[in-house]
Amino acid sequence: MNNENINRCAVVTGGSRGIGRAICLELAKMGNNLCIVYAGNEKAALETADLCKEANAEIKALTIRCDVSNEEDVKNLFDKCISEFGRVDILVNNAGVTCDNLLARMTVEEFDRVINTNLRGAFICCQNVTRIMMKQRYGRIVNISSIVGVHGNAGQVNYSASKAGLIGLTKSIAKELATRNVTANAVAPGFIATDMTQAMSDAAKEATLAQIPMKKVGSPEDVAKAVAFLASEDSSYITGQVLMVDGGMGC
Ligand code: NDP
Repeated sequence: MNNENINRCAVVTGGSRGIGRAICLELAKMGNNLCIVYAGNEKAALETADLCKEANAEIKALTIRCDVSNEEDVKNLFDKCISEFGRVDILVNNAGVTCDNLLARMTVEEFDRVINTNLRGAFICCQNVTRIMMKQRYGRIVNISSIVGVHGNAGQVNYSASKAGLIGLTKSIAKELATRNVTANAVAPGFIATDMTQAMSDAAKEATLAQIPMKKVGSPEDVAKAVAFLASEDSSYITGQVLMVDGGMGC
């Protein structure tokens, strides 16, 4: 339970699988009620909810289907959270997609698809939650960026731009909301074992691994523990930061 003994509520986009699922679990263990947001994979979202309730029988876990790039969907999402829990204390913008191609071959549609989910989606969610958090005079926003948002990556101009954009978004929100007891930080993972990286070729995986000083792939739990800290009351004097969780890859 948190310091103030409030039943806090956390919204995690892309909570059905991978890093998002690990974040939900970590936040459940800390005593937060959960809104687990998914795009289409209801089965996985329900599994996450069951795991969260197993991890902490005291909390409630709601699954909500929502395309984060759709304004109406996002409005409905936060309406549901408020009607169920009466508040939203934590927003983790974790939903993300890739659609890799070299710049010369990338279509505008491929560029837009990735920007719409990763950056526009996070913007819409932040805008909706900000109204709630400002009234509460409490909030924690954590945006999941990426090492490639800091360093760039060949074949990922759309994805890198979306993740770099998230850092600018985070720092600006941090400045706007600093006096309201609402913090905004970004976590930038390196190479983490999930469905997203499973799709990479063996050669690409080996090349990436070779660049990691720790010589190992990170786990979703590695990221989740960093997010959990930034989502907790213990991080109250930290805002506008980018925390790399990358085995030293970007240092
Ligand atoms: P996964 O591909 O395993 O999971 C993606 C999640 O996002 C799923 O829960 C999916 O829902 C959800 N999602 C996708 N599109 C939308 C949408 N439009 N609206 C709502 N939810 C959506 O990804 P990871 O767990 O690997 O990645 C999580 C985050 O971490 C992403 O932002 C990613 O960019 C970032 N990241 C990942 C790294 C890695 O190495 N894996 C490295 C750096 C950053 P559903 O299950 O319903 O499809």
